[in-house]
Amino acid sequence: MSLKGKSSFVVQKHQADKAGEHYDFRLEMPTDKGKKLVSWAIRKGPSMDPLVKRLAIQTSDHDMKYGKFEGIIETGQYGAGKTIIWDAGDYKIIKPVIKNKSDLEKVTMFEFQLNGKKLKGVFIMIKTKRGWILKKKKDSYSDQNIDITKDAPRSVVSGKKVDEVTKKDGYIPVVTSGYGID
Ligand code: MN
Repeated sequence: MSLKGKSSFVVQKHQADKAGEHYDFRLEMPTDKGKKLVSWAIRKGPSMDPLVKRLAIQTSDHDMKYGKFEGIIETGQYGAGKTIIWDAGDYKIIKPVIKNKSDLEKVTMFEFQLNGKKLKGVFIMIKTKRGWILKKKKDSYSDQNIDITKDAPRSVVSGKKVDEVTKKDGYIPVVTSGYGID
């Protein structure tokens, strides 16, 4: 299945030295600075159970190339630690119309369809005072009996668990300008 009008998405499992383990959920979206990965940090990651709500804190937009990264971000660099591409694929906004990241400021929720290797079907993001809430919408893909982050912990690219990546997989050194992955 491929989605019409699709853009890419990626979820990186990030074992960060400072922030601890979390999932970086990133949707490709046009911004005023061109196409970026609009990003949210989710402590426990996404769930396929429509009864589970996960707090998703919006973080900085990332350049498209970071969606392809897995490996080690050097100690001292922003986002230092290890990361894997936990899931990737394409997605489509269902409603309301969101054509640019700035449209996110005008909405209180949006529905979108994911076509990843692990995450599939319709999801909802709801804006709250504390941040966004990500939750699965009930459909043919939703499932209360699987715990997808525990049942499917490996990279969809290398098959590695996050603690198994090495510098050979990818490496972001400490630099004085630019940034790593938050
Ligand atoms: Mn992160």
